[in-house]
Amino acid sequence: ILRTMDLRKSFGELEVLKGIDLTVEPGERIAIIGGSGSGKSTLLRCLNFMELPTAGRVELDGALIGQVQTARDGTERITYAERALTQVRRRVGMVFQQFNLFPHMTVLQNTMEGLITVDRMPRQQARERAMAELARVGLAEKLGAYPSQLSGGQQQRVAIARALAMQPEVLLFDEPTSSLDPELVGEVLRTIHTLAEEGRTMLLVTHELGFAYRFATRVLYLYDGLVHEEGTAEQIFRAPQREKTRAFIERSS
Ligand code: ATP
Ligand code: MG
Repeated sequence: ILRTMDLRKSFGELEVLKGIDLTVEPGERIAIIGGSGSGKSTLLRCLNFMELPTAGRVELDGALIGQVQTARDGTERITYAERALTQVRRRVGMVFQQFNLFPHMTVLQNTMEGLITVDRMPRQQARERAMAELARVGLAEKLGAYPSQLSGGQQQRVAIARALAMQPEVLLFDEPTSSLDPELVGEVLRTIHTLAEEGRTMLLVTHELGFAYRFATRVLYLYDGLVHEEGTAEQIFRAPQREKTRAFIERSS
C-alpha cells in the first residue's frame, strides 16, 4: 500500500535519512524503534509529506507521488504539487506526540475540521462522521469540551478520532503516549490496540517496547538514518541478530 525506495532526507548538511527501503502491506502494523535522533519522526513525516524527501521515491497504492523530471545530464528530480500532497496527507493520517488540537475549537469541531476544509464535506455529514469516530474512542460525552478541559489521554484520543474521521488508508503514530502521565498511557494504548484488531494498516514510533511487542506484525530498528535490522516482534525483541539492535533492546527494556 505504501512503499519507499532509497528515501533520503537532509536538513542542510545533515543527512537524517540515508536511504530507506520500506514496503508496507495492507493490514501490517509496523513498530519503528530506535535511539533519539535516529530519524524515526523524520521518516514518518516524509511518509505523509509533512517533510518533502530530498531524494528517493514514495509510492502510495503503486502510484508514484510527485513528478519525475529528468535533467539533460540524466539526473532525476522529483517535484511535488501542493494539491497532490494534500491528497496524500488525507490518505496517510498522522497522530503526534503533542496532540496538535486547535485550542479554540471544541472536541467535535476539531474532529470535523479536516472533513470540511480538506474533503469539503457538508457540515451535517461531517458532524455525523466525527461523532461516530469520537464514540469509537470513547469520547461521545465530550463533544462540546475544549482541549484544555480534557486530560492528556482524552486529548490524544480526540487526535486519533480526528485522524480516523478522514478514513485514511494508513495511520502513522509518532510516540502517541510519550507526553502522557503514566496513568493515562493505558487508555491510549487500548485505543490503538482496538484499531489494530480492526485490521488497519499502521506505523507506530514508540519507546513502549512492551506494547510494540504485542502490537507489531513487524518491527524496524532504525539506526543513524537506516533500517539497521527488521523482523517480527519475536525476532527483534527475543533474538536480535545485530549487536546494535541487541544493545538498544537491552538498554530500553
Ligand atoms: P526522538 O526519539 O528524539 O524523537 P527521532 O528518531 O524521531 O528522535 P528525528 O526527529 O527524526 O529523530 O530527528 C533526526 C535528526 O534530524 C536529529 O538530529 C534532528 O535534530 C534533525 N532534524 C529533525 N527535524 C529537523 C529540522 N526541521 N531541521 C533541522 N534538523 C532537523
Ligand atoms: Mg521523534
